[in-house]
Amino acid sequence: MERILGKTKDEWIQTFPLVEKLILTEEVFWSNPKYQDFERAIQLVSLGIQDVRDAEERLKRFSPYLARAFPETREMNGIIESPLKEISAMQSSLERYMNKKIEGKVLVKCDSHLPISGSIKARGGIYEVLKHAEGLAIDNKLLTKEEDYTKLDSDSFRKFFSDYSIVVGSTGNLGLSIGIISAKLGFKVTVHMSADAKQWKKELLRSKGVTVIEHELDYSVAVEQGRKQSERDPNSYFIDDENSTNLFLGYAVAASRLQKQLEAMDITIDEDHPLFVYLPCGVGGGPGGVAFGLKLIFKDHVHCFFAEPTHSPCMLLGLLTEQHDKISVQDFGIDNKTAADGLAVGRPSGFVGKTLEHLISGVYTVEDDQLFAYLVMLAQTEDMYLEPSALAGIAGPARLFTEREGRNYIHKNQLTEKMKQVVHISWGTGGSMVPKEIMDSYVETGIKVLVSKEYKDLNLS
Ligand SMILES: *Cc1c(COP(=O)(O)O)cnc(C)c1O
Repeated sequence: MERILGKTKDEWIQTFPLVEKLILTEEVFWSNPKYQDFERAIQLVSLGIQDVRDAEERLKRFSPYLARAFPETREMNGIIESPLKEISAMQSSLERYMNKKIEGKVLVKCDSHLPISGSIKARGGIYEVLKHAEGLAIDNKLLTKEEDYTKLDSDSFRKFFSDYSIVVGSTGNLGLSIGIISAKLGFKVTVHMSADAKQWKKELLRSKGVTVIEHELDYSVAVEQGRKQSERDPNSYFIDDENSTNLFLGYAVAASRLQKQLEAMDITIDEDHPLFVYLPCGVGGGPGGVAFGLKLIFKDHVHCFFAEPTHSPCMLLGLLTEQHDKISVQDFGIDNKTAADGLAVGRPSGFVGKTLEHLISGVYTVEDDQLFAYLVMLAQTEDMYLEPSALAGIAGPARLFTEREGRNYIHKNQLTEKMKQVVHISWGTGGSMVPKEIMDSYVETGIKVLVSKEYKDLNLS
């Protein structure tokens, strides 16, 4: 009998009945039994608000450089940030599609439209490269923190950085972010792409002078190969998506920016106006960092849920079994094959799972077909085009009410009376860089799904 960490599949199912549904790739909604009040939970975490502020300050130091090197960031003075939008038409569509009222207001955070690389990876990925560049320049007495960082956009700095290389393993978007910023600074950069990575992402990177190495196997293998390559060269820096606190902190900066956007929209978050956030999750760094930042600011008033494809529920499996990165979906025969390429990860980050163990409210999974259905609904109601991975977050506000575990969560946290004032934010993690013909094919797939489900509001003109 084949064993997984010493237990048979049946034994795992006996201890955690939900595992059976995961194996059958059914949609599930899990609320975290280890969720705790913020003050207690945060005591077990070594990172804190000071670390996030430090990252925020660093991004500010780099903003004059970014404004100069990437004209699309000029309007925002070199701050890489995305819009926050209310999507009431989509909310109504979701209600009809799911046949369920969604109490409260639904918004989407458009990281799909972050400048430079069009996905949530423009937060953590770019941040970590900037931090590394700053460290090298300061150590070599070429820069001080008080200086104007626009000087980094020069031939002498590009020549300096060209002696160093950066290596990363990716399902696509992290490679895109790190490749673009590293090449701009002058680094030599190699991206190890998993089999799921889209061809257009590889081509775009090659056009910018990035070395792209393609792997036949999945994300974990791409990361491992990158790590090995980097170890052989002392001037090489490996960006470790599975364990990096720098990436995590870069993502976490999103929270204070979101707080300001909510204030500007006159949206209050407090005890009577809770915030629910739904974050598409791959290895965990992006959604984990954002959730961590949000918990530091809104504490018990924010409830963060991760969203995963039914074929790659790695974070859910890791949290549920408490085995984190010791266990993978493939151990249970789940294939890790999904159209949500950014989420096609079979083994979660142990660092993220352990850090958020008591802070994350829950995880739900979404079928690929549904992702395409939401893609078309959002396009038709709000004229917003997201990539399949990003649509996993869109399901959240509806699933919270349709699923018994979601309703239990509301009840257990004494939120029933407050749900009319709740603010839901679906994190729209990517999409604006997807080439038109590929987006058209996504829309086509989504229309087929909606037709098969006899969806009434479909506009076929
Ligand atoms: C990478 C990615 C995510 C998830 O981020 P992780 O850090 O891998 O968990 C979500 N959506 C998109 C579009 C992504 O590219």
